[in-house]
Amino acid sequence: MISANAALTGSYDPLQVALSVLIAVSASYAALDLAGRVTATRGRARLAWLIGGSTAMGIGIWAMHYIGMLAFRLPVPVEYDWPTALLSLLVGILCSAFALVVVSRRRMGLTYALIGSAIMGCGIAALHYIAMAAMRLPAECRFDFRLVALSVALAIVFSFVALWLEFYFRDEPKNSAWRKLGSALVMGVAISAMHYTGAAAATFIPAASALDQSHAVSISSLGTLGIAAATLQVLGVAVLSSLVDRRFDAQALELALAQARLELAHVARIATMGELTASIAHEINQPLTAVVTNGNFALRQIASGAPNLEELREAIAEIVNDGTRASAVISRIRALLQKGAPDRVELDINEVIQEVTILVRHEATLSGGVSVRLDLAADLPRVLGDRVQLQQVLINLIINSIEAMRTLTDRPRQLLIKSAKNADAVLIQVQDSGKGLDPEQAGRIFEPFFTTKPQGIGMGLSISRSIIESHGGRLWTVPGSSGALFQFTLPTNGNSVS
Ligand code: ADP
Repeated sequence: MISANAALTGSYDPLQVALSVLIAVSASYAALDLAGRVTATRGRARLAWLIGGSTAMGIGIWAMHYIGMLAFRLPVPVEYDWPTALLSLLVGILCSAFALVVVSRRRMGLTYALIGSAIMGCGIAALHYIAMAAMRLPAECRFDFRLVALSVALAIVFSFVALWLEFYFRDEPKNSAWRKLGSALVMGVAISAMHYTGAAAATFIPAASALDQSHAVSISSLGTLGIAAATLQVLGVAVLSSLVDRRFDAQALELALAQARLELAHVARIATMGELTASIAHEINQPLTAVVTNGNFALRQIASGAPNLEELREAIAEIVNDGTRASAVISRIRALLQKGAPDRVELDINEVIQEVTILVRHEATLSGGVSVRLDLAADLPRVLGDRVQLQQVLINLIINSIEAMRTLTDRPRQLLIKSAKNADAVLIQVQDSGKGLDPEQAGRIFEPFFTTKPQGIGMGLSISRSIIESHGGRLWTVPGSSGALFQFTLPTNGNSVS
């Protein structure tokens, strides 16, 4: 018998509670997964992911709340007003879309995260309380406002944590599946905790059914299972399509990289080997032959005991001329290499470093497993530069390092690439754990054609230095470090990467 003033005592169906937590965790997993897609895509594809993703996530959060409510058994029949239920679903979808937009931004500052989580937390709380308002039962619902406030606060705090987790895991680093699952667990349990705190805020006092019953529908246990199954299916399809899309993207990236690798190889070959050798052979051979001929003539004159001083002077003058011509040819070739249609654009140097690291990945693995570590400063200003030329410089430095570590046996082969802000410039360092630079030769390594390698050409560092200097920067080595440390600066235009 139900007394007129005592609150109705309800109980939870543990299986349905477990089901609601499972859905919360699945929705969180889908959210983490979809945030990555929204970030990685652009234009129409991004919009499609945003709409599809927020619908799937919204349905997930919504279903979690309804199954949580259905799990609560009261000793009176409970029905639900479907237009209100639909409204709460709309709130869930909007809230998810907002969250996806927030986490797919390039950067997330603290203020942004705080405002974002306040809006999102209030959205989730709104979904929850609108969902409760959809309940139609012969009882009056009273709220304990301290618990209501606590549930809203929890929703905001959990939204904050969730936004950070999503932001950090959206880039899909390697081996992220377990970490993503861990974060999804944390987020799912957090969403459930918010829901059940909110539910505990309500007490139901028996009353004559006063609320409008015209659009009320009752939901059986089978109906609950149906909602759960459909929700899990929607989330499953969302995660699956994100997986397929990511595969396609990865393939496209591989293709683009293969293309870039080919182009770079081509540039490098033309720059260092083919054209250079041919022009040098052709253009330098002539003055050299003349130098030898004139030198021999001068020697014979001196050996004769009575040299014709006038002819001797002419021969030596020609030797000087030919020498100057030969060096002019070399300067011309270098100038040609430097010019190569520079294409200056504003760049994020960290991006260039990351691209190059991917390009040399194979080389690093093949050369006895060189581990490449990046230590890139956040918020670096942009630099004005030619992407391909700067890639070439980095590739030269990295390949030199890899080659210098090839013979290492007593310590790990490690390569560290670092970027940092430095007065009006950015500073990039490439350091290896190799044998380092021989102090006697260190002064000469930037000279054209200086090499200590049997197959070397000795143009890599010389070309790299000209490229950096043509960008208004400086390239040099830092003595006294273990291994070799090369570093260069690039002037900045003061605009921060955003
Ligand atoms: P190449 O690689 O064809 O020899 P470079 O101009 O790139 O031409 O390099 C010139 C020389 O500088 C190399 O032969 C080598 O002796 C020295 N060198 C360059 N980088 C390193 C390094 N990371 N460690 C040790 N020596 C280096």
